Amino acid sequence: MCYKTDENCLFCKIVKGDIPSTKVYETEKVYAFRDIEPQAPQHIIIIPKEHIASANDLNGENAEVISEVFVAAAHIAKIEGFADNGYRIVNNCGNDGGQTVGHIHFHLLAGRNLQWPPG
Ligand code: AMP
Ligand code: ZN
Repeated sequence: MCYKTDENCLFCKIVKGDIPSTKVYETEKVYAFRDIEPQAPQHIIIIPKEHIASANDLNGENAEVISEVFVAAAHIAKIEGFADNGYRIVNNCGNDGGQTVGHIHFHLLAGRNLQWPPG
């Protein structure tokens, strides 16, 4: 393993397999799994395996993996069959953003007509 992890972090534990998850897709640097409390017919969480706490913690050294997250999202949309109908990718950052897990993650939501603006 060549990425930073945090032993107290829920999503680091999921990457390690210490907490079970329903895997959708995985690469060397990215892991995607089904949200435990889905807000749409398709609700997948995509994370870098490296522990990055939030969007606030991105910098020139660690941000490259975020493009891999978006490539993973496009791939998942194709393999799960919702690429043509469309989807939404959401990152919540900090308290006002509604972030509840301190490991940067992207919600991939699909399978219904998503409303805008969010609440
Ligand atoms: P956020 O509120 O943006 O921090 O999103 C955290 C997301 O993680 C929520 O949608 C939760 O339902 C989801 N979540 C929390 N624990 C788990 C878990 N053990 N497995 C899958 N998803 C989880
Ligand atoms: Zn983590």
